[in-house]
Amino acid sequence: MTASGTPALLPMAPARDERPGISGLARDELAAWFEARGEPAYRARQVADATWRAPATSFGEIRTLPASLRDHLDASYRFDTVSDTELRLSDGGLTEKGLHRLSDGALVESVLMHYPARSGQRERNTLCISSQAGCAVGCPFCATGELGFTRDLETAEIVDQVRHAARRLAAAGRRLTNVVFMGMGEPLLNLDRVLEAVDALNDPKRFALGARHITVSTSGVVPGMARLTALGPQFTLAVSLHAARDALRDVLVPLNRRWPIADVVEAARAHALATGRRVSYEVTMISGVNDTPADADAMADLLRGDHAHVNLIPMNPVAHTPWTASPMDVIERFAATLGDAGIGTTIRRNRGQEIGAACGQLAAERAGEPPAAAVARRRERLIGESAAALRGERSRKPLPAGTAGRDGA
Ligand code: SF4
Repeated sequence: MTASGTPALLPMAPARDERPGISGLARDELAAWFEARGEPAYRARQVADATWRAPATSFGEIRTLPASLRDHLDASYRFDTVSDTELRLSDGGLTEKGLHRLSDGALVESVLMHYPARSGQRERNTLCISSQAGCAVGCPFCATGELGFTRDLETAEIVDQVRHAARRLAAAGRRLTNVVFMGMGEPLLNLDRVLEAVDALNDPKRFALGARHITVSTSGVVPGMARLTALGPQFTLAVSLHAARDALRDVLVPLNRRWPIADVVEAARAHALATGRRVSYEVTMISGVNDTPADADAMADLLRGDHAHVNLIPMNPVAHTPWTASPMDVIERFAATLGDAGIGTTIRRNRGQEIGAACGQLAAERAGEPPAAAVARRRERLIGESAAALRGERSRKPLPAGTAGRDGA
């Protein structure tokens, strides 16, 4: 691991390690493993405590266990599935981006953001984590979307991003206060593992983070949203909206061609009604594309009266798009339109831009520069598509490969 502005090269990935991660086990699975070996029940508790509460980084450090049991555990499970991590710091140390290489060489990212205490509010340490390596949705303003989809993460690979950050914070006398599933991937297309991860994070005997401090985001996988609502956990649902008009959202969030805005917002309203939790809508502000007064009016009409909050986020620079972030005065006017409609709105500051803290930027950097001709073709296509969207023409393109047949239900 490096913790400086200059990243070290990650070593070559070894062959894929087939042992499951210990943190992906539910409590009863861990207990069953010990019971099958004739071990007393308290052994499972010792391992769970060391996994979730102690600063241990290997089974070998759990000195309360006999050495033979430690070896046996090590032969069966990995203590940590994201141990190979490169860190970059920015914002005077307030933002830390982690690039994690998994055992098969897949790269995923997490971002830890520190918010100092101010005006009566306690300090917050929020970790943004990945649920998939790459992403099949292919939003054109997102570096991860450009990388394409590699694979779903295992439960342990999701929660180990959290354990990793919690250990770093604990070493500095701090505590992780919030987890958001807004890193690489569409969480609702890996929903079983995401739900297991949320359960592990929320479980008082494992990570013990209150559900209200966990946010799960989606680009609008409606059946998955309905499943979350039916299950009823009290975490926050964040919807990557980005546009309130279908023609434009077809381009910005390609899944919109399958689940259009009205269905997504209806599913979000059902979640707010069932859980009492305010839905958070995320809007990446792209200059001249989705930030016009007409877009602001459409969003105000769409969300007026909803139990919802809108976050406006200036677009991070991404090499393969022709687009740039909206100017701040345009974002402020957009926010004012939403505010006049009674919709709570926050303008979010970009964190860690100089270290590529937006989702997928570091992994894209590792993947190397795409050929200039391909970038030029893609830019030209996006200019054409966004111009057609502004004329109100719906996209006829097929759904992104990799999302077909998957709906999180
Ligand atoms: S914005 Fe989210 S859903 Fe869209 S491509 Fe990026 S990671 Fe996937």
